[in-house]
Order: sequence, then structure tokens, then C-alpha cells
Amino acid sequence: MAELFYDADADLSIIQGRKVAVIGYGSQGHAHALSLRDSGVDVRVGLHEGSKSKAKAEEQGLRVVTPAEASKEADVIMVLVPDPIQAQVYEESIKDNLKEGDALFFGHGLNIRFGFIKAPEGVDVCMVAPKGPGHLVRRQYEEGRGVPCIAAVEQDATGKGFDLALSYAKGIGGTRAGVIKTTFTEETETDLFGEQAVLCGGTAALVKAGFETLVEAGYQPEIAYFECLHELKLIVDLMYEGGLEKMRWSVSETAEWGDYVTGPRIITDATKAEMKKVLAEIQDGTFAKNWMDEYHGGLKKYNEYKTQDSEHLLETTGKELRKLMSWVNDNE
Ligand code: NAD
Ligand code: MG
Ligand code: MG
Ligand code: MG
Ligand code: MG
Repeated sequence: MAELFYDADADLSIIQGRKVAVIGYGSQGHAHALSLRDSGVDVRVGLHEGSKSKAKAEEQGLRVVTPAEASKEADVIMVLVPDPIQAQVYEESIKDNLKEGDALFFGHGLNIRFGFIKAPEGVDVCMVAPKGPGHLVRRQYEEGRGVPCIAAVEQDATGKGFDLALSYAKGIGGTRAGVIKTTFTEETETDLFGEQAVLCGGTAALVKAGFETLVEAGYQPEIAYFECLHELKLIVDLMYEGGLEKMRWSVSETAEWGDYVTGPRIITDATKAEMKKVLAEIQDGTFAKNWMDEYHGGLKKYNEYKTQDSEHLLETTGKELRKLMSWVNDNE
């Protein structure tokens, strides 16, 4: 069973007694910086010269300095810039500003797990990763609730790393909902696998293949879009609320029967065998290495895939159809 921690297990005064630098002010960065500040923590935000987020952070009452100054001032440094540039930001701005007893924090374990960042001895290396997007993390905090977090300690130089991580999690509302203890290895590998095999990659491929099958059989793209993409939200909402059981309770018996007999014909033993290969390539670092090479090589394939999919009939059909649905929040 997973170990769970709540408000009563966490001592907010630990993080209140430290100086925190939040490097980056994107989805997670803004949520952490603002909520820690509101929890009575001494926070500064580290942003590079010319950052578009600088004005926003200052408007919201935060002090913004460079990543190097922030790291120098602080003794807890939370790295919330995009994963592929963390190693560079670390080398240029953080590394030389780490003192013994400082703590290096992450919201995702990729750079530590695969050795792109190697923290010096004497420094705690911790993770607090909310299991939700940053804007929800902030909104829940403001409403007196929180988003569940997972927390881990990779290097426990002070012997008090986990208490510090729990205290940080309390500062962003995480312990109000519950914090699960994990490791950098478990978080990184399951996060990458989940987004690739199921949440983003698996789901997008399933939706596209279903849509193409219907359209190639002569059905209208608009009808295929509703069946294969639009309705997915309703199904996933039911799963989210009550697992597969609630979804099956809500759909017709015909749909439920089709689920049992056809699902395993779509996601077959061969699919699962491929999932195991995907996981192995995540575990042995192949995926992370290829992604870093792609990113630093100018994102050529990434941009090709992006363009290809944006021109797909599924996407062009959806763009038109969503105009008919005033309640769908579309920022196109
Ligand atoms: P983001 O892309 O939303 O924001 C990145 C921020 O970094 C921006 O404010 C940008 O201005 C800033 N930045 C870019 N280059 C910089 C530089 N050189 N120096 C300083 N700042 C720079 O990122 P995000 O999605 O919040 O992700 C941050 C971390 O949180 C990642 O490790 C990610 O895996 C993790 N995470 C994200 C989510 C999420 O909901 N997005 C959820 C869990 C964990
Ligand atoms: Mg994830
Ligand atoms: Mg991820
Ligand atoms: Mg239907
Ligand atoms: Mg039913």
C-alpha cells in the first residue's frame, strides 16, 4: 500500500524557515510561487532576462530576479523550467550557487533519473509533483483545498529531506488532499509511460484510427468526430468519477457488451507487448536520450509531426464543429 501524508503529518514551519527560489513562472511555477507566498514562505522567482512572465509575476506581487541571483539567495531551489532546458539552467545559474545543506527541488524527475543533472553531495534532492496542471493547483489552493501530490527524496544529505518535501507540499496545498511517497525512478518512469502509452499517445492514436476507419468507410467526418473524439470526454468523466464500473453503469447495455467483446480485439496482446517495449526504452534511457537529441537538434521531426496532425481531417473537422458548441472553451 502507498504511504499517504496529510496536513497533520507536515510541519509548515520548516519551509517557512527557509528561503525558496522558484525558477520559472509557467504552469507549475506560478502556482508554487503564489501559494508558497500565501502560506507565509519567503519566495523569489528566478527568470531569465527578457522573460515574458516577468511582468506577470511582479504584478502578482512577487519579487523577480535572475535564476542565478534567486539560487544564490535561496536555500531551497525549485526547478520549474521546461524539462529539456533544466540541465542548461542548472549548469549556468544554479550549480555554482549551491551550498552545503541547500535543497534542489523538482516537479518531475527526468533530469535526475537520467543523469542530465548531477547534484553535488551535501545537497538534498527532492521532488514535489502535483498530480494536476498548475492552474488547478493554484485554484484549489485559493479555494482552501489542494491537488494531491507525490513526493520523493533522491539524495538525503541532511537526513531531513522528506520532512522538507512534505512541508513544501503543505505550502502549496498538497497535504490538504494527500501526498503519496514515491521515488524519482518510479515517478519519472510511470509519468513518461502514462503519457506515451495511454494518456496522450495511446489515446490520440486510438481516436485517430477510429475516426479514419469511419471516414474511409464513407461516413461523414462530422459524425465520426462526435463518435470518436467529442464523446470521449463524457466517458472519461465517468471513469474519473467512479472507475470503469460507473462508466458501464451509465452507458447502455449494448455499449457495455460491445466494450467487453470488442475492447480486447482493439488493444491486443500485441499492443501490450509493444507497451512493454515502450516501457523498457523509457527505463534504459533510450527515450530520454532521443528526446533530448531531438530537442537540441532543433525539433525537426517534432515540428513535422505537429504540422501533419494539425492538417489531419480530424482536426480541421473539429475546428469547425467546436464553433457550434458555445460551451466548449476553445482558445484557438
Ligand atoms: P511551462 O512550460 O509552463 O513553464 C516554463 C517556465 O520556464 C516559463 O515561465 C518560462 O518563462 C520559464 N523559462 C523558460 N526558459 C527559462 C530560463 N532559461 N530561465 C528561467 N526560466 C525560464 O512549464 P511547466 O509545464 O510548469 O513545467 C515545469 C516542470 O513541472 C517540469 O519539470 C514539468 O515536467 C513539471 N510538471 C508540470 C506539470 C504541468 O501541469 N504542466 C505537472 C506536473 C509536473
Ligand atoms: Mg504526468
Ligand atoms: Mg510528464
Ligand atoms: Mg454513441
Ligand atoms: Mg449499463
